[in-house]
Amino acid sequence: MLYDVVIIGAGVSGSAIARELSRYKLQICVLEKEEDVCCGTTKANSAIVHAGFDAETGSMMAKLNVRGSQMMDQIASDLDVPFRRNGALVVCTDPDEVDGLQKLYDRGIANGLPADSMEILNREEVLALEPNLSENVVGAFYAKTSGIVCPFLLNIAMAENANVNGVDFFFNTEVEHIEEDTLPSSGEKIWRIRTCNGDYKARYIINAAGVYADVFHNMVSAKKIHITPRRGAYCLLDRAAGNYVSHTVFSLPGKMGKGVLVTPTIHGNLLIGPNAQDIENREGTNTTAEGLQEIIEKAGRNVRNLPMYQVITSFAGLRAHEDGHDFIIGEVEDAPRFIDCAGIESPGLSSSPAIGEYVAKMMAEKLHLTPKENWNGKRKGILRPSELSMEERNALIREKPAYGRIICRCESITEGEILDAIHRPLGARSLDGVKRRTRAGMGRCQAGFCSPRTMEILHRELGIPYEKITKSGGDSKLVTGRTKEHFGEEA
Ligand SMILES: Cc1cc2nc3c(=O)[nH]c(=O)nc-3n(C[C@H](O)[C@H](O)[C@H](O)COP(=O)(O)OP(=O)(O)OC[C@H]3O[C@@H](n4cnc5c(N)ncnc54)[C@H](O)[C@@H]3O)c2cc1C
Repeated sequence: MLYDVVIIGAGVSGSAIARELSRYKLQICVLEKEEDVCCGTTKANSAIVHAGFDAETGSMMAKLNVRGSQMMDQIASDLDVPFRRNGALVVCTDPDEVDGLQKLYDRGIANGLPADSMEILNREEVLALEPNLSENVVGAFYAKTSGIVCPFLLNIAMAENANVNGVDFFFNTEVEHIEEDTLPSSGEKIWRIRTCNGDYKARYIINAAGVYADVFHNMVSAKKIHITPRRGAYCLLDRAAGNYVSHTVFSLPGKMGKGVLVTPTIHGNLLIGPNAQDIENREGTNTTAEGLQEIIEKAGRNVRNLPMYQVITSFAGLRAHEDGHDFIIGEVEDAPRFIDCAGIESPGLSSSPAIGEYVAKMMAEKLHLTPKENWNGKRKGILRPSELSMEERNALIREKPAYGRIICRCESITEGEILDAIHRPLGARSLDGVKRRTRAGMGRCQAGFCSPRTMEILHRELGIPYEKITKSGGDSKLVTGRTKEHFGEEA
């Protein structure tokens, strides 16, 4: 089949673009090498919707961050994604660096932020907002519109909504090669995309491949770009520590980025990180003892007595840092019909609604696209019994008993929610797929108790043999065989 548009990558950029393009009469598909959406950088970041004061004035990053943040309330409401503007404090602990706070304010104004959305606070004012800050704090820049979002659900919801509006998604489909071809019938130039699952044909390609976007750009263009995976590690603390700060607490930004932050997450945990380390390995999301020590030490400079005994897990993500340090979005000059969406490092999550809008507008103007009459931009998330009143919950359980069976005890996630996660569009196929959609396994035992029970549900609902159920696709199988001697053939 010849697609009008093939998007490479089902991260938040590819999914945002897919959703925006699904407004138009186009045949679109997304090719993703992993088993699910949200398996690249979008699954491991700070989850901050940045206000827009940090990026260099005039850059794509600045424009799309400001616009993306403006769009976030509407998109979160339309797609039923958890999002809250908790405000950010960039704290200063060195009297010699206080000027840096004013620079952030001035850049915020230059980037188009409303003057009343930002403030410079003195020591007393900032300590009144955040009593657990360091004794050494001398002042802070307060960005009131900064927010926290669930990155998994933002990505998943955009993809689901694109899918119900007609976009095909192909998982476990790694793009290996791209070349130009010609349709014999009309002589039209098209792209032939070789994947591990056969060839796809497209009039347009959108390259949203995260840390691999330079590989595809460089396949079709003589003007090379270069992405360095810049790793950032985190410690995630239990929900018992979630109120330790209520704002996102940043340090003054440095050469390698926005520095180490301490923030509540939208789901009530406390998150500490990231550091910034340039590496070679584009899959190198392991953490190191030194990296974690670095973030704990740096976070401790701004927030005192951090309850590090509450850490429940650590993880790392890779920023797709392009040498020019800006988003590269647009048709490649010497490769017509090939659209880059490369170098999408932070604030890529914040910018994602605007990235989708920008690319779709560009395509709509270029191709004179016709909108669909029946496009539906709304999506309902998974029903959460824990958010219902006791009466509503009892009524739900009477009607659907699966909502009365708790599978994940740490996060109080029911079987009903897991069934919904599996059976909705682009449903979960692995433990991580269930986890990112429902939070089963996100709690303090980190899936120790609920994994076998979630496996039973995946097995029963999808007919996947136990030996083939994975944590996150590929070789991440959880069991190797049956203990026949003890439980018999069918145990
Ligand atoms: C440490 C860290 C902190 C961050 N904090 C924030 C923050 O607080 N706020 C913010 O706004 N942004 C933040 N970001 C940036 C944000 O996470 C990214 O900009 C965003 O997630 C990028 O999304 P993407 O879709 O472009 O890339 P990805 O999510 O990486 O998606 C790319 C997809 O392409 C797929 N792919 C790659 N190669 C192939 C292939 N050959 N065939 C098929 N598919 C392929 C990948 O599997 C992946 O799913 C942070 C990033 C990091 C690493």
